[in-house]
Amino acid sequence: MPRSLAPALMLLFLILPASGCTSHAYWQRQKDAIEALQKTRRPIPPLAGYRDFPGVVHVHSLLSHDSRGTMDEIIEGAKQAGLSFVVMTDHHNPRVYTQGFEGWFDNILVIRGSEIIKGCAGRTGDTCNSLLILGLKNYLDPAALTMPQIIARVKRQGGLAFVAHPNGFTDWDSQGIDGMEIYDILDDAVDHRWRFPKYFLDIEYSFRSYPEEVFSSILDRPTEALRRWDALTQQRRWAGLAGNDAHQNIRLLGRRIDSYGLSFRFVRTHVLAEGLNETELLRALASGHAYVAFDTFSDATGFAFWAGDPAFKGMQGDEIRLTTGLRLTVQSPVAGRIELIRNGTVIRQAETAQWTVPVEEAGVYRVQISLTIEGSLRPWIFSNPIYIRGDLPSSQGEREGEAPSGFAGGGGDVSPYNK
Ligand SMILES: [Zn+2]
Repeated sequence: MPRSLAPALMLLFLILPASGCTSHAYWQRQKDAIEALQKTRRPIPPLAGYRDFPGVVHVHSLLSHDSRGTMDEIIEGAKQAGLSFVVMTDHHNPRVYTQGFEGWFDNILVIRGSEIIKGCAGRTGDTCNSLLILGLKNYLDPAALTMPQIIARVKRQGGLAFVAHPNGFTDWDSQGIDGMEIYDILDDAVDHRWRFPKYFLDIEYSFRSYPEEVFSSILDRPTEALRRWDALTQQRRWAGLAGNDAHQNIRLLGRRIDSYGLSFRFVRTHVLAEGLNETELLRALASGHAYVAFDTFSDATGFAFWAGDPAFKGMQGDEIRLTTGLRLTVQSPVAGRIELIRNGTVIRQAETAQWTVPVEEAGVYRVQISLTIEGSLRPWIFSNPIYIRGDLPSSQGEREGEAPSGFAGGGGDVSPYNK
């Protein structure tokens, strides 16, 4: 560092914390506001026949060149975050498929996957094509294959392919991609490099007392990924999930700032399934029976987004037929700003916890909920879309939007919730 810069930096260190924007009082107000919100949380029973399993996707361990994380540390972090599952995605190498962790660890289901990066010599960045592959049985050598060829081989083995780091991905026309990260922690941090000096100061002054609040200050609405996703879902069903991209490999100013526990508590992918095993989990992720929640602000478990007329027709991820009297229902454990999006455009919004709106037009509908914390709207929940088709044959409508088992559709009681 040039000597002339040192006094200026020292001054910055002294002034910024005192300026109010990063003082302990600021973080304490954030913490108090979040705790107050959490006290308003109302538990919601899951849709009949389904349970809400919070988990994380995109996790690296010592099987990756850039992480030293052990399975014990990952499971400890998963317990701290109340996870039901962890999807491992070590950087693709043969060891993942001989030594990779999978199975049950203290009631937490661990699935083995890997991350294949092409086009950037192994570096993660804006120009990389990065793919998460799940459910692969045998190692495949990606060296001589193009991304579309890799995806084809993954699908042949019955695996799933999800785009990671969507802002750098280019092979969008590849056949067989199941979905994409609509949020990635690393992308969010790197997208705002210009804030790094502020992060350094926050870590130095406040991280020890306010780790959750400082960590979640990186969060911005993933506008570009959502725009891409909205365009893709208008072509076909395309599932969304969150990428934690957890490495537990960043130590700054003597502090571990990206522990697995912190990363896993920050954002979770909630899967809606009848039970939890590898098959059910992969099926739910691929079909979009899932939503993304920044649970650091409040536990989103129980969030529901479904269509009925009023009998239950389908939930997020499902494709259903437009019928007379069709309506969409949103139920949230905490009241917030709910935005209803059709084909990528916000068409209605409300400040509430429970909301039902009629559907008059076919389209791809999803919802997002934001919470007001200390005067700022913070993104909280992103649902997968419900695909409402005007031209779906009635038999397909029944099949795609099949009622959860145990749900007595029609008749007097139309609530699809468990009692
Ligand atoms: Zn990664």
